[in-house]
Amino acid sequence: MHTAFGLVGVDQAMKRKGAVEIGWMIDTDATIDFVRANRRRYLQELKAWITCQSVSADPERHHEVRRSAEAVVARMRTAGLMDATVLETDGLPIAYGDWLGCPGAPTVLIYGHHDVQPEDPCALWTSPPFEGTVRAGKLYGRGAVDDKGQVLMHLAALEAHLRTRGRLPLNVKVVVEGEEEIGSPNFETFLAREKARLACDVVVVSDTAVFAQDVPSLTVSLRGLVHWEVAVHGPASDLHSGYFGGLVVNPIEALARMIATLREPSGAVAVAGFYDGIREPSDAERADIAALPYDEEREAQALDVDLLCGGEHGRLALERTWLRPTLELNGIDGGYQGPGAKTIIPSRAHAKISARLVAGQDPTHVRRVVREHLESVAPPGVRLEISDGGDTRAVSTSRDHPAVLAAARAMERGFGKAPVFIGTGGTIGPVSSFDRILHLPQVLIGVGLPDDAIHAPNEKFDLRQFYGGIETMTYLYDELAEALKTSGPPRHAERGAEA
Ligand SMILES: [Zn+2]
Repeated sequence: MHTAFGLVGVDQAMKRKGAVEIGWMIDTDATIDFVRANRRRYLQELKAWITCQSVSADPERHHEVRRSAEAVVARMRTAGLMDATVLETDGLPIAYGDWLGCPGAPTVLIYGHHDVQPEDPCALWTSPPFEGTVRAGKLYGRGAVDDKGQVLMHLAALEAHLRTRGRLPLNVKVVVEGEEEIGSPNFETFLAREKARLACDVVVVSDTAVFAQDVPSLTVSLRGLVHWEVAVHGPASDLHSGYFGGLVVNPIEALARMIATLREPSGAVAVAGFYDGIREPSDAERADIAALPYDEEREAQALDVDLLCGGEHGRLALERTWLRPTLELNGIDGGYQGPGAKTIIPSRAHAKISARLVAGQDPTHVRRVVREHLESVAPPGVRLEISDGGDTRAVSTSRDHPAVLAAARAMERGFGKAPVFIGTGGTIGPVSSFDRILHLPQVLIGVGLPDDAIHAPNEKFDLRQFYGGIETMTYLYDELAEALKTSGPPRHAERGAEA
């Protein structure tokens, strides 16, 4: 029945550990003993799940994505969730399960994804990508940590609660998406459609990494994203630079001059209104960043650059990538690119620009002010065409939010060390979608390591992180139930700048 996960041994473990609840006191030890006793089984389950080639980017393997969704649903049932089913979208299926046996108690929604990145280039894998292989305490295989292993941490922890206590301390809804690796094209429509089914007080996402091995961490901010394309049109066709040089404005030069106005010598973005709405990082945030084991010199070396001096001068490196916005040129082209010399004034030049946003910035406002800036600095003699797109806001959850503090306590219990709070300069589509559609606080509690090679050959999950993660999630539900009960369930996302 549960072959997709290769389920073994659960009943033997059950016989040793009964449900233990003494009055209001819950014996967490019995639940933790359960997950420790079942580690081998979890590893077998994860290995079996890795054999499912749920590559969402490959239409030839979409039946495998469906098989993976069905495997998750089967595993949810084994865990004891009340309702577990495959939910269809306009694309690939989502596995959904819930346990709603605590009326009046807070509800947590757990998000993860069961699709994986393609395995190419296959020749660089030491062991077959779709066979889980353990070497030196690490499980290698596509999806081991991104995100199958991290989804399984939750299912294992939910099962442990239900098997040892017969109940969970709060209501739980689990959403495991099948299109995260192709940019979640149908997820927002799904959220909007299933708003009622997915109603909850807090979202927990386990699809991130910690700062470093032995540095447990919680991600509390992600940046948003908007972009532009700028075309500068000159003469109707390329012109002879001898006959026309000195007569018409060169579109490449015009574009270069325009781009050069985007940044101050101090590294700050020179567009009026770009920083509107942003709050300065607090002293506590900057102190936390300064205390992290981050070696700028070594990082520069790894990137093969002399210095990490991009962005605003006078700010810490991680502050610049996590807590400050950036405006970047992503591509530029125009004129002759072939071999040898060709003496022309090109007809056009073109650039792609994007900005990563931080809390407080309104994507629509940023798109407008950058567009207006470019229009205002375009020289006469050329025609400008600008298109813009993207409306992904930054997401940040206050580190003082009761759910974040609960997650920090769970992580400290699971890994024996209090976590640090970190940000990420990147953007996670589904997290922004939860923010935009459901307006909920989110806890990003992932346990991957920075060198896990996600999306690359030899992806792995360190088994210490896997087992520590299962224990962390086991504690997390108790901590969240307690924290949200006493504080009253928070209903709104807290964006840093608005807090
Ligand atoms: Zn992922």
